[in-house]
Amino acid sequence: MTPYTIDDLAHADTDHAIRVADRVWWVGHRQNDDPFQCHVYLIEQGDQSVLLDPGSQLTFRHTLRKIEEIIPFSHIRYFVCHHSDPDITGALPLIDQMVGRDNAVLVTHWRTQTLIKHYGLSQLPFWLVEEHDWKLPLVDRCLEFVFTPYAHFPGAICTFDPRSQVLFSSDLFGGLTPEFSLVAQDERYFEAMRPFHEHYMPSRDILGYALRAIERHPIRLIAPQHGSIIPEPLVGFMINQLKTLECGLYLIAHGDTDIQRLSQLNQTLRDITQTLLIYRDFRDIAHSLLEITQRLLPATSLEFHARLDGQRVLHLTPESRYSGIEAEPPAPVAQILNLDHKQWHELNVAGATEFMLVNNAGDSPILMLPLFAPDQGTAQAVAIIHLAEPVVSTDQLRQIIGQMSVPLQVAVEREVIYRQIDLERQRIYEQSIRDILTGLFTRVYMREAVQRLCDIQDRSSVHQVAVLMLDIDHFKRINDSYGHNQGDVVLQRVAAEILGTIRGSDIPVRLGGEEFAIFVADDETASLALFAERLRVRIAALRFLAPMTDQIVTVSIGVAVRQPQEPLLDLIQRADMALYDAKNSGRNRVRLAPGTLPLPAMPG
Ligand code: GH3
Ligand code: MG
Ligand code: MG
Repeated sequence: MTPYTIDDLAHADTDHAIRVADRVWWVGHRQNDDPFQCHVYLIEQGDQSVLLDPGSQLTFRHTLRKIEEIIPFSHIRYFVCHHSDPDITGALPLIDQMVGRDNAVLVTHWRTQTLIKHYGLSQLPFWLVEEHDWKLPLVDRCLEFVFTPYAHFPGAICTFDPRSQVLFSSDLFGGLTPEFSLVAQDERYFEAMRPFHEHYMPSRDILGYALRAIERHPIRLIAPQHGSIIPEPLVGFMINQLKTLECGLYLIAHGDTDIQRLSQLNQTLRDITQTLLIYRDFRDIAHSLLEITQRLLPATSLEFHARLDGQRVLHLTPESRYSGIEAEPPAPVAQILNLDHKQWHELNVAGATEFMLVNNAGDSPILMLPLFAPDQGTAQAVAIIHLAEPVVSTDQLRQIIGQMSVPLQVAVEREVIYRQIDLERQRIYEQSIRDILTGLFTRVYMREAVQRLCDIQDRSSVHQVAVLMLDIDHFKRINDSYGHNQGDVVLQRVAAEILGTIRGSDIPVRLGGEEFAIFVADDETASLALFAERLRVRIAALRFLAPMTDQIVTVSIGVAVRQPQEPLLDLIQRADMALYDAKNSGRNRVRLAPGTLPLPAMPG
């Protein structure tokens, strides 16, 4: 008796019936140059035997010969038709002529029965699965029928044999195999199943329903009507892979039935969707999209121009690592960004495509693809694909690029939103660290920046940190005499004087009102006092426009040098006390805080 290990099945002689499980036989016919191989199976049950999906007129005489290697044809009582397609039912008229016994029946679903009747294919009586509780008791087993409606026929069914644990799956799990292989060798068989299912199965929901119904059975082997038999180690894998498939490719076909191509399109879309799901960083997204594009085109790089708010446009390029720089787009891109969907098609009427190919001699050729948000009028972005060589716009290219535009638009829109949040955050940060009136730093910034300075000092001890606290003398009088606006002018002029006097490494802060602090790193106490003095003199020398032409503005300054490990607040407090001292001793002067040793010789 023929054994039925996977290896044996792979090398079995297809000129004879092949045993695939206990009392289960393959009795199909291997047709050369037919990727659509049709398989017929026999369950040997003495004179209660079952033939599943008998086949077509093309193959039936071969099937008959193989059946008779096992049992006389007259022993077959049940002819199971999983659906009504001619590759299953074409042989029925031949069978009709041969059946001599009275109790032979066609086992099927009522939807299939209706069509077989109309075809006038058979005079055999029908045995309808739904009238028999979806079960067929036999000699040593009881077949169970699984309803898999609309996959791909309304009344499609499969048959499960609990004894051998074989699922006779009909069109499900079928594949388009260019080379005949009775048994699937490994996971690669899924790629043969992919286009078959993407194309034949109308939707993922319908396929999913069928797969769930099938999964309830403890399957060890899947015997499909097309493709290859799936042995146990691959059963779970194939079921799970089928669950991930998109189906109904006919829906997006534009009068084209090339299913391999549609499958490629489908794969591309899946990969793009995956890319968007997996990656958050636009660099990764762009990198992955480029790889996907390279399957279709000699693409060398991808760049994007995306509209921010108003007229601002973000330029995302590999050179800037897609960090998004605000930049004026080139004229053709700017033009496209101003078009709505309808205008774009009018403009691009020559190409009548989703994109514009610019195969300029000299410049490297590019493909420009406008990205329209679904709810907004004008193009939201333009994707530019740089090409190594000119390409011809084919239907396939149009279709795939056209389909890419929606996910691309989503990716770019997402990036723009992130970018806007970043810009807003930056703006708020700038506002929080810069005083609007004077342009000096705020207290908020002072805390973090000066703390950094102090940390450096604590580590190195070479660097010295000091602070100048500065307060305008009798500033209230200026406000009172000339008004608040003139007071503001004075504040701005004093701040400008501070900025003009300090070094780049110093940190000038407006503490509030007419009080300022300048943090200075790496200075000798002597030169510090000189610096404070110089600032005091320069401010006193400021001259103002009318009505303040006679106004002299002076400041009092307190200086403190930070002791090792001294907390920032203590340092400020000591400087404040020095400032208080300066005020009390007559204003318009510099005072050093006690503890700032050695005390320098103060000039004049
Ligand atoms: P002293 O010499 O003792 O420092 O006297 P002063 O008048 O300068 O000090 P005081 O603290 O009495 O007055 C400060 C004034 O600064 C009071 C407040 O109205 C004014 N001021 C605070 N912030 C601003 C501002 O942003 N613009 C203007 N124009 N005035 C301000
Ligand atoms: Mg079929
Ligand atoms: Mg004051």
